[in-house]
Amino acid sequence: MSGTRSFISGLICPKCGSRYDCREVQHLCRCGSPLLAEYDLAAAAKSVTPEIIKTRPPTLWRYRELLPVLDEANIVSLGEGYTPLTELPKLALRHGFGALYLKDEGVIPTGTFKARGAAVGVSKAKELGVRHFAMPTNGNAGAAWAAYGARAGIAAHLVMPEGATLAARNESAVCGASVHMVKGLISDCGGILSRSIPAHGWYDASTLKEPYRIEGKKTMGYEIAEQLGWRVPDIIAYPAGGGVGIIGIYKALKEMQALGWIGGKLPRLVAVQAEGCAPIVRAFRRGAAESEFFPDSKTVAFGINVPKAIGDFLVLQALYGTGGCAVAVSDAEILGAVSELASAEGLFVCPEGAAAFAGLKKLRAENWVAAGDTAAVLNTGAGIKYPDTLRFDLPYCPVEGTV
Ligand SMILES: *Cc1c(COP(=O)(O)O)cnc(C)c1O
Ligand SMILES: [Zn+2]
Repeated sequence: MSGTRSFISGLICPKCGSRYDCREVQHLCRCGSPLLAEYDLAAAAKSVTPEIIKTRPPTLWRYRELLPVLDEANIVSLGEGYTPLTELPKLALRHGFGALYLKDEGVIPTGTFKARGAAVGVSKAKELGVRHFAMPTNGNAGAAWAAYGARAGIAAHLVMPEGATLAARNESAVCGASVHMVKGLISDCGGILSRSIPAHGWYDASTLKEPYRIEGKKTMGYEIAEQLGWRVPDIIAYPAGGGVGIIGIYKALKEMQALGWIGGKLPRLVAVQAEGCAPIVRAFRRGAAESEFFPDSKTVAFGINVPKAIGDFLVLQALYGTGGCAVAVSDAEILGAVSELASAEGLFVCPEGAAAFAGLKKLRAENWVAAGDTAAVLNTGAGIKYPDTLRFDLPYCPVEGTV
């Protein structure tokens, strides 16, 4: 892809409008808000088209003009992106959708969509000369950043709650990250790092405290549109924790409109949360601009156990801005959805992805989703990364017997 370039023009604060230089390390705005990358979309539209993109390799770097890395030599890639958008014909028929699609991030390197954020975030960190980064993580983000950090030759310092999955712990450690466990929650891990990061001079790679992982995650939005022939579904359902993915998809949709690649009608974005951790759902019901801390949060869907997200106001803007909504599902509904997707369509999804499907079913049952609507569900990771979520008591038979 020589001759291509990034059309990033800078960083902007979505709260106060302050602008920052993207050629230097930046974290939060001085007002405390996350920063978002801005592009010269008019110039990009003259340089790249859907027809050109179609000819490129099937990774998220096919949208290179809309990604923040300036020098191609800094790209750190394991082949991430362009995951299947699998049609679910049986479940569409069963539940009365016009068409139902599952964007399957279970097959991406590291087994979760956190690879998208890590690929772009680590590449940009490399470009900025970062040697060490640190983050608190519930597991999947840390594992992905550890993998890309190893490939980039950047040291990863991770702090994880003891509840993090064994898969993510092992993956982080084997990739050479320094991993510290905490008898507490992700918020406690964040507290420890807020003291350690300035002491060591590490790059703070916490969710939305660096502006580039969202740029990786937004490519899910570009891919859904491209895979549907530059059309968008009526609804996109997303399992929201920190909310980076849904903020990113909303950003991608607006960029694609400005580029002239999709029409004026946006999909209604749906944030699905677990009943045991539903700060965005509570805020949405009140019509609020921000969420409140959700105490004693608990759910089998560990990746969406985020009691208060720093980008909550951006998630709510994405919902209000598209006529979308937020909905909560129980752990029983989540596990039921894992089984339904696997037994009907052969897709063993992670609990978070199952939550998104369960939320969509609930909205269909309430007729918020109309019969015949087209919907896409984000499955954010592979079910096989969560070997302890399901328990089957399988029958033994005598060695000389028959089954
Ligand atoms: C992190 C994570 C989520 C939530 O992602 P956000 O974009 O931060 O809301 C969902 N599913 C899985 C598997 C995750 O690891
Ligand atoms: Zn600001």
